[in-house]
Amino acid sequence: MNKEKSISAYRQSCEIIPGGVNSPVRAFKSVGGTPVFIDKAKGAKIYDIDGNEYIDYVGSWGPMILGHAYGPIVEAIKTQAELGSSFGAPTMLEKKMAELIVDMVPSVEMVRMVNSGTEATMSAVRLARGYTGRSKIVKFSGCYHGHGDSFLIKAGSGAVTLGLPDSPGVTRGIAGDTLIASYNNMESVEALFHQYAKDIAAIIVEPVAGNMGVVLPDIQFLRGLRDLATKHSALLIFDEVITGFRMAKGGAQEYYGIIPDITTLGKIIGGGLPVGAYGGRKDIMQHLAPSGPVYQAGTLSGNPLAMAAGIVMLETLRSKPSIYKELEEKTRSLADGLRNNLAKTGISGVVNQAGSLLTLFFTESKKVESFEQVMTSDKERYAKFFNLLLEAGIYLAPSQFEAAFVSYAHSADDIQKTLQSSLLAMQKL
Ligand SMILES: *Cc1c(COP(=O)(O)O)cnc(C)c1O
Repeated sequence: MNKEKSISAYRQSCEIIPGGVNSPVRAFKSVGGTPVFIDKAKGAKIYDIDGNEYIDYVGSWGPMILGHAYGPIVEAIKTQAELGSSFGAPTMLEKKMAELIVDMVPSVEMVRMVNSGTEATMSAVRLARGYTGRSKIVKFSGCYHGHGDSFLIKAGSGAVTLGLPDSPGVTRGIAGDTLIASYNNMESVEALFHQYAKDIAAIIVEPVAGNMGVVLPDIQFLRGLRDLATKHSALLIFDEVITGFRMAKGGAQEYYGIIPDITTLGKIIGGGLPVGAYGGRKDIMQHLAPSGPVYQAGTLSGNPLAMAAGIVMLETLRSKPSIYKELEEKTRSLADGLRNNLAKTGISGVVNQAGSLLTLFFTESKKVESFEQVMTSDKERYAKFFNLLLEAGIYLAPSQFEAAFVSYAHSADDIQKTLQSSLLAMQKL
């Protein structure tokens, strides 16, 4: 496969963009080699600037649940562009978008639009702090909530500890307000509440973890978080930036039947344009300016182009409830096929699947249900697997610790080709 143009573009980009990319994972650092530069995409396929075609399982990290360049979304963007792309004043599109979200997401009675998932989670935490008058939050090691300062904190090796900054530039003061617990481990959360109950404004969690690779929640864990937050008058924030409109039309909260106080949304909600949102109970959301004292604003928030794209996306998902069953079945056939390939080749691994999300962990562990088990994965083996599949025209996430996103546009043929190539790749590991 010829990658000459991508290699040269990457070299030149590195001179003028830090690391050559506008978001770190795109640089292929954890799989080696250099990133392919994408020229265009359609359906389940992406094409690089050297003319190579790939079956795409990144899907822009989630938004492309209907496939790339979905006709009705393209039309909606074109139509709105002719009518103006930003006004900085309210529009009917924003009202329509809010109505759709309130209708689809069980816990959301009121919603505020922003421009990214990061903005949604940062704002949700500020709101939770403003509403409760408390300062600390509980997050889980291995869960990602965007790059806001409060979230760039990791746990010390499995222990329940006070946060330490994960990135230079995050102050100790901010890090100290983030308490770290272990995913799927209620005791670790109870221990934090035992010590800090009166200071904890919110628990923030990915209801299905997607950013350490896919880790399914134990339903008792999610229920336990709901009960504990209620008991201590803290808020439960479901970060549904990945799971929203993906696990079900109402997200993981519909899928698992658990009602959070605040929900953050992103990715799918913008139909491929930069959008985020956060919403929840009216009495909480009314704490936001201008109806309440908690400040949050945005010049381009509720942007007409993005709303036009998002509305078509959500209306499509709402009107075809069978989409989710089909996506889940398609993804299950991929997951089962990968497990068969592991068995045939004697390679150790675990395939976790939740709806249309999937991760193949190369690990000796029998199950992957915690961050600790995630960390037993063989990153070098994944890197080799990734590069073999890339050569075969299959574009997986360039990191072991990410999800594969299956879209409505992936055909049975795409899945078969992926499985055949993965069998060949595993034979070479
Ligand atoms: C992607 C993601 C974010 C951040 O969204 P951006 O749009 O990248 O800022 C937050 N939370 C979760 C769960 C995500 O997957």
